[in-house]
Amino acid sequence: FIKASVLAGENCEDEMLPVAGQTNSTKSAFEMLQEDRKNLPIYPYRDELLKAIEDHQVLVIVGETGSGKTTQIPQYLHEAGYTKHGKVGCTQPRRIAAMSVATRVAHEMGVKLGHDVGYSVRFEDCTSEKTVLKYMTDGMLLRELLGEPDLASYSVIIVDEAHERTLSTDILFGLDMARLRPELKLLISSATMDAEKFSNYFDAAPIFKFPGRRYPVDISFLPAPEADYMDAAIVTVLQIHVSEPLGDILVFLPGQEEIENVEETLKSKIRGFGTKIRELIICPIYANLPSEVQAKVFEPTPEGARKVVLATNIAETSLTIDGIKYVVDPGFCKIKSYNPRNGIESLLVTPISKASATQRSGRAGRTGPGKCFRLYTAFNYQNDMEDNTVPEIQRTNLASVVLALKSLAIDDLLHFDFMDPPPAEALVKALELLFALGALNKLGELTKVGRKMAEFPLDPMLSKMIVASEKYMCSDEIISIAAMLSVGSSIFYRPKDKQVHADNARMNFHTGDVGDHIALLKIYSSWKETNYSTQWCYENYIQVRSMKRARDIRDQLERLLERVEIKVTTNLNDLDSVRKSIVAGFCAHSAKLEKNGSYRTAKHPLTVHIYPSSGLSKVLPRWVVYHEHVLTSKEYMRQVTELKPNWLVEIAPHYYQLKDVEDGASKKLPSAIGRTPA
Ligand code: ADP
Ligand code: MG
Repeated sequence: FIKASVLAGENCEDEMLPVAGQTNSTKSAFEMLQEDRKNLPIYPYRDELLKAIEDHQVLVIVGETGSGKTTQIPQYLHEAGYTKHGKVGCTQPRRIAAMSVATRVAHEMGVKLGHDVGYSVRFEDCTSEKTVLKYMTDGMLLRELLGEPDLASYSVIIVDEAHERTLSTDILFGLDMARLRPELKLLISSATMDAEKFSNYFDAAPIFKFPGRRYPVDISFLPAPEADYMDAAIVTVLQIHVSEPLGDILVFLPGQEEIENVEETLKSKIRGFGTKIRELIICPIYANLPSEVQAKVFEPTPEGARKVVLATNIAETSLTIDGIKYVVDPGFCKIKSYNPRNGIESLLVTPISKASATQRSGRAGRTGPGKCFRLYTAFNYQNDMEDNTVPEIQRTNLASVVLALKSLAIDDLLHFDFMDPPPAEALVKALELLFALGALNKLGELTKVGRKMAEFPLDPMLSKMIVASEKYMCSDEIISIAAMLSVGSSIFYRPKDKQVHADNARMNFHTGDVGDHIALLKIYSSWKETNYSTQWCYENYIQVRSMKRARDIRDQLERLLERVEIKVTTNLNDLDSVRKSIVAGFCAHSAKLEKNGSYRTAKHPLTVHIYPSSGLSKVLPRWVVYHEHVLTSKEYMRQVTELKPNWLVEIAPHYYQLKDVEDGASKKLPSAIGRTPA
């Protein structure tokens, strides 16, 4: 019995794992797994570690990546009886790591995923009443704390990958979970970085450090900088493939797009070589990759072939891929940055830190001596790279954690025990936004609206849009839109050879210049009318996988509506109501048309443009609200909807005054651009 398991078909249910003692062949596979477990570097320290856990409430555990911290420690605790009186929860910074590691551990224990071992990530709970080892994202544990403030159902919490210093991990640290219950064990586990800092922060908690197996890695730099790191990566991979002994290659790339590009080029080059070179198996791995494809990177490389793994920095510490002998490190990653002045968050390709570079090169020396090819110069390394990556809390929008902390009755944020405090400006900005959304009152106290918003595992602007839909009687439409927005940009399928067809299909949903949010609603409703037809998706160049995910998310949002006692009501004949709900959520994202066809944001003036693929990019309404901001060649607004400026004053009177939206310049606009909604 799987509790509220979303995507169960994909990840939970059809996973039939071998059970110990079933048949001869599965038994030997199971036994082999047990042998593997005993060969991990952590194994000789098993008893000593359990003793230390018994003796101390809080323990910092430090060990090399791949030594067995994530997969073994929860199993040791289970074997030692900790799961008799509560669960062992183990947090991961990334959903893909939580899912992959849980799958592996279920396998090692010979149990079905979702039963004794499960995982819980946003919008997907693959656990049951029986679950005793629970892998989850750090964000999910934070949400669980909202519902179970003393974590009574847990006997041990492991904050794993602590060195990643994600926003949620840092907040969990500050909440000081050890003080909740004296018998709750708290383990902080980290790769070999910053152990003293963690220990100091947790009142001089003891550090349990065990040696990993590390073989020498020969590191080389480029003699001169390379202009195109992707090109350089491809050339390096091919050079390794033709001139170095067998052994798999791991290439670090900033994101999905870069991985897809490199994959395509590599494939065509390999085809060009024909049978002159040996087989090169290309395995991409990034967070949004479907789980069947993800599993491919863990499959052993066939005899005589070589595997090249194209990974985001997920492979730096979160996932261990065995058999890597060569690492290609272009020295970049995609990193979030936040400007508290204008409230804009962007994802930028940025040089990595020295600590990251060390982790990356270490991936080559896990099972034998290896080589790391750094595609930057030694000078760059010395002079252009920071020692450590700036923790996320110092470069992100804090609105959702401030809302979470307020719901935990933590009001004095300036004195919250942050390991590294966020910029005061970012805190103020978050409070300001929550006030604008009506989640906080003038005194900074949580309102009824704020309490409802906090129930949704979404950005506060989206949560507010949903909560506001009650008033406009259109919650049915709004949760469809919210689900579609949460799926992100992967809804449309746009193959290179059929781009015109794909674009035409997309524009069909935009008839009447309704705006992108309404177009998303139309797509969802049309798909639903066809009874969720896959054929319909093909015909309309829509990714069926994304649609299914949207449906799962929508189902969950519907359940959450019930929890906050908002009725599901539909108001399809009045699209203005739908738009007003959107404005209620995104009032801080309004922008006004300028004479030259660009836009100016209303509150913190900035020049922005409508994203080219938007249905409104040729219409140019006078006023818009947008879902998100993206920076590519220009500053763009993505997912745009038209509004009447007086709505801003009507809907968010404490945030907008008439003078903000008065539109003196509009009369001078050429008639081709600038219009009011019909
Ligand atoms: P750590 O957390 O210390 O970095 P892990 O416990 O994640 O180490 O991994 C220990 C070992 O377990 C890895 O070296 C690898 O051999 C194996 N392993 C982990 N996850 C998987 C997986 N999804 N598939 C196959 N093997 C895995
Ligand atoms: Mg780990």
